[in-house]
Amino acid sequence: MNTQHTKGEWLISPIHPNQIKGNAGTGEIATVSENRIGEWEANAKLIAAAPELLMSLIDFHKQAMAELKKTCKYCEGTGSINHNGSNYQCAHNVSDFAVLAAIEKATK
Ligand SMILES: [Zn+2]
Repeated sequence: MNTQHTKGEWLISPIHPNQIKGNAGTGEIATVSENRIGEWEANAKLIAAAPELLMSLIDFHKQAMAELKKTCKYCEGTGSINHNGSNYQCAHNVSDFAVLAAIEKATK
């Protein structure tokens, strides 16, 4: 997947821990407001981890969906279950939509 965000690892600045910087001389990426007492450090950590979380999610999703399409015992990989004449989304397909929505939120 071709993403547009700043490449490389993102780090919390050791001098200004409310700032997130790129590790490859890419400078400041974001600054979190220290006004959010009790939250700003966690917000900085979450933002700094975003590229790794996104790439891990994309890789995991690709592998998991390929495996589920081969092995799902409920839908046999079709994503749809027929029960008493009605069609339902298989649970693995519903999870697929949620993950795809999160990836799209981060990339589109
Ligand atoms: Zn299924």
